[in-house]
Amino acid sequence: MAKFILDITKEELLQELALKGITDTRVLNAIAKIPRENFVHPAFVKSSYKDVALPIGAHQTISQPFTVAYMTQLLDVQPGMKVLEIGTGSGYQAAVLAELGAYVTSVERQPELYTKTTKLLHELGYKIITILGDGTQGYPPHAPYDRIIITAGAPDIPKTLLTQLKVGGKMILPVGDAKQQQMQLITCNAHNDYDVFVVKENFSFVPLIGEHGWNG
Ligand code: SAH
Repeated sequence: MAKFILDITKEELLQELALKGITDTRVLNAIAKIPRENFVHPAFVKSSYKDVALPIGAHQTISQPFTVAYMTQLLDVQPGMKVLEIGTGSGYQAAVLAELGAYVTSVERQPELYTKTTKLLHELGYKIITILGDGTQGYPPHAPYDRIIITAGAPDIPKTLLTQLKVGGKMILPVGDAKQQQMQLITCNAHNDYDVFVVKENFSFVPLIGEHGWNG
């Protein structure tokens, strides 16, 4: 990649995340290892380490680093876990999960992003399985999962995904209207027995579009 001057360095971003409450050193170390400049649109490379969401094409965004770190920290991903991500987008969140030692399957509905990101993740050496399809239906061939993360805003909890979660498993997702969502963390106590915690308000994700999402 050509030389460029960053608005903010990766070290500065890591300090900012720590100040904002990211205490899990595994999550911070994962972010430290990943070249976010490879995941953003070339026009925004200078801002790679600003704590903001940035355009990635196809009217989608790479999530704000704080949001990625916050969701990952709450999800408590351990090495060897099977994790399903809905909304591959740039692939950055999937890379963070892989750096934590998870076996990641990630579903994207837009062919353009799916193709571009599959290539990038391969080039960077990540063994992440990317799937083109409607993630609101989950991905049954690899189920059940230890963890599920939805990185687009859902109108409500997609029930199909709960059936693909292991007992003891966790799912995190933003739920709300088109403008604003609250972060919800779900734990599966037993089949058909789930606890739902609202952990934080005021997120703004692009919509989860699919059979069990918007326009379903
Ligand atoms: N995790 C991504 C965030 C991308 S934004 C990252 O780290 O960059 C959310 C993504 O979800 C978009 O790419 C959008 O196309 C995708 N999406 C929306 N609805 C979906 C669905 N039903 N299945 C799969 N992907 C979906």
